[in-house]
Amino acid sequence: MHKGKIIRQGAIAIEDKTIIETGKTHELKSKYGRGYEKIDAKGKVVAPGLINTHQHAAMSLLRGYADDLQLQEWLEKWIWPIEKHMTAHDIYTGALLTAIESIMGGTTTVNTMYHYTPEENEAKAFADAGLRGVIGHVCFSWRKKEDKKALENLAKNWHNKGDGLIHISVDPHAPYTVDPEYMKELKEKREELDQKYGSEKTPIIWHTHIAETTDEQEKIRKAFNIKLKGGVMEYLDSLGVLDERVIAAHCVALTDKDITIMKKRKVNVSHNPISNLKLASGISPVPKMLKKGITVSLGTDSPCSNNTADMFEVMKTAAILHKGINKNPTIMPAEKVLEMATIEGAKALSWENEIGSIEVGKKADLSIISLKKPHLCPVYNEASHLVYAVKASDVETVMINGRLVMENRKLTTLNIKKVMDMVEKAKNNLLSKLNINVK
Ligand SMILES: [Zn+2]
Repeated sequence: MHKGKIIRQGAIAIEDKTIIETGKTHELKSKYGRGYEKIDAKGKVVAPGLINTHQHAAMSLLRGYADDLQLQEWLEKWIWPIEKHMTAHDIYTGALLTAIESIMGGTTTVNTMYHYTPEENEAKAFADAGLRGVIGHVCFSWRKKEDKKALENLAKNWHNKGDGLIHISVDPHAPYTVDPEYMKELKEKREELDQKYGSEKTPIIWHTHIAETTDEQEKIRKAFNIKLKGGVMEYLDSLGVLDERVIAAHCVALTDKDITIMKKRKVNVSHNPISNLKLASGISPVPKMLKKGITVSLGTDSPCSNNTADMFEVMKTAAILHKGINKNPTIMPAEKVLEMATIEGAKALSWENEIGSIEVGKKADLSIISLKKPHLCPVYNEASHLVYAVKASDVETVMINGRLVMENRKLTTLNIKKVMDMVEKAKNNLLSKLNINVK
């Protein structure tokens, strides 16, 4: 993902957390002899770790709990009532499970929006798993005071912490759950926290859902009695909240003017094709946005609207969905989709100075994938395989921040069985609180 270059018979030299050289194996081998641990990746692809730019990690606890419903009914009747009973420990447990699943599928960075709880939380889960992430606290109009306190604590305790693995973000839920005044306040809050805890290299970003469904204007009108004249992006621009440190999930229902505004304000997009299809939200005009030069990255969305954290599935779906709907097989080629899942993801999270490509000076976030499998044989084009043929389970070894977090499919940071037991227990607790009989 560095200038589109593939190095064959290549090697990567890493010291501590950082990539210090890339080149041909025979050259690097003689240079980095004694004192360097070696990993043999012969016959394999070493790829930059995938970057999932939209998740709600803790919601893995609710995977498969309620499917095949309308978005509003799904949220109001099913998800929000059970979430009320989720404890800090539940949130930590769910995020641990997503962290494990992500790592095992070659994803090394996850941007997650959930509720911050001081005792245990998603940030702690990611740090414990050795996963890189941007951890947000989701904000709603009905709990402004609690939100501001949570944001302050999240930033103070976690921004640029966990050996630099964790960044934090300010996350207004959506334009129909956050009133215009609060939107503006949350933009100011981001600036304030950034001044206090961020730096040019480690900025605090703003993560939100925008234009997920076609009736979002109507939802804004109902919630705040505001009648929009144009699109939702145009409305947010009138509030002065859009800039290059905004990552907008979904961006399905956009007007042409919205897209022009996004380009002007350098708004970043997280495209979630599987979630949008599953919830029947519509199809985001991704080729149009790419043509404009907007940064479009990829995300899974939550484990209950996808229902996995598999970024290989997302890459393939993104590629074939837009070809199909546009009746044009030349758009969204494999190389472009791979960029969207790596370097464009890094840009979307304002983290491209450290991640997103295998490049000297960047952090060593890598995955090693064996191609010696029937469904990956023969090899003409590695990018094609990564997007169209590789499965998450083909990822063998994963390094994050120079640390081996999975070696030959064995996690080095956590006990998988123990985490799955914790998840099962959390599920039973939640169901019993809802008075649903547990088998
Ligand atoms: Zn979402």
